[in-house]
Amino acid sequence: MFHRSVSVLDADTRGGLYYSDVSTTNSGGGKRLEVVTVNARGFGRSIFLHSPELEAYSYPEDNPFRTERAAMTREILVSHGMLSGRGRAEHEASAAERDVLEKFHVRRYLDAIVAAEGGQLDIEGLQMGLGTPDCPVFRGMYECAALACGATLTGAHLILDGRADVAFNPAGGHHHAGPATASGFCYVNDVALGCLMLAERHRRVLYIDVDVHHGDGVQDAFYDRSDVMTISLHQNGRTLFPGTGFPGDIGVGDGRGFSVNAPLPPGTYDEQYMRAFGAIVPPLAGAFDPDVIVLELGMDGLSGDPLGGLKLTNNVYADIIETIMGFGKPILATGGGGYHPGNTARAWALAWCIFCGEGGHDDLVGLGGIMLENTDWIAGLRDRVLVVEAVEAGEIEEAVSDTIRAVEANVFAIHGL
Ligand SMILES: [Zn+2]
Repeated sequence: MFHRSVSVLDADTRGGLYYSDVSTTNSGGGKRLEVVTVNARGFGRSIFLHSPELEAYSYPEDNPFRTERAAMTREILVSHGMLSGRGRAEHEASAAERDVLEKFHVRRYLDAIVAAEGGQLDIEGLQMGLGTPDCPVFRGMYECAALACGATLTGAHLILDGRADVAFNPAGGHHHAGPATASGFCYVNDVALGCLMLAERHRRVLYIDVDVHHGDGVQDAFYDRSDVMTISLHQNGRTLFPGTGFPGDIGVGDGRGFSVNAPLPPGTYDEQYMRAFGAIVPPLAGAFDPDVIVLELGMDGLSGDPLGGLKLTNNVYADIIETIMGFGKPILATGGGGYHPGNTARAWALAWCIFCGEGGHDDLVGLGGIMLENTDWIAGLRDRVLVVEAVEAGEIEEAVSDTIRAVEANVFAIHGL
């Protein structure tokens, strides 16, 4: 599937891409971890999922969630000539059918969305989270959510049928929605449904969530199951919505050890984020041995995001994607948060380039120049490296170390690490 070359990942290495050519020992207890890194060229088949109809819908003007980010991403890619060519293609998706949505959502909730849209929002609908500032009632809300979900599920089908190695739906990633709850701009949980569909077909699913917010809806959906492992890295719930996702939350029953949470302090920057990711995700991925990865790629962790408090650049997401591609499994990737539309769209465009085996090198995409605002951006897709004050860096490093230790203590032993 992917072209591969073998190297060794060192979970203790700080900075850089965490790859080295020599065997090393990780901090989890002397286990040697081998991962596969992806060759810079030729990544099989990457499919970009697109719903033209989705462009007709948008959340109310005063809501920070902008559906147009998916179309913006596509425009950037078209202008870079990145949507066609060897090993890549675009695929149009249609809305998910009602009976498919009912595999995760309860009927009364779906009825309540339709009713609210028609002007019938009752107490039950309000209790389900509809008509709130985060999840307002607006024209086309059901269709909008079903279209975003349809594209994610189309991606899951393409992977199941062996027609895609990577499927990317920037309009998806609505990870907060519950079976009967709208939450955090999310009405229909396309990522939970994607994981469900893959698990239904007996695939072991590793769900990785790098949105700045905890992936609570997806975690809760699989909290007692061992066939879907969820790993969420997010800004600490004590400082950000939805206030959940602590290292002690590890799943129950058969699912004990299969929910993994890495809360990170406000101000976390690329090097520390990658240190946490490298220490936690590759060892668990190696132990869990998934058949497929579902990646929620919210971009609200980027520095300058109006809702998130992390200080990441899009370079760290490029590094994360390269690491995940190194697992050598098909990837169903979605968007998610990201409330600076320009920076978000550019980061998703960069992500697509990495999925296609391009953009990991400066000579292919060029070095960009944004720091905090899109207006500083000069050219290319990549952000400029962000400088972090030493005092602040020390505090963040300590908090990240605490999180890594807590995750190791809570779940590594369960997986023989
Ligand atoms: Zn988010």
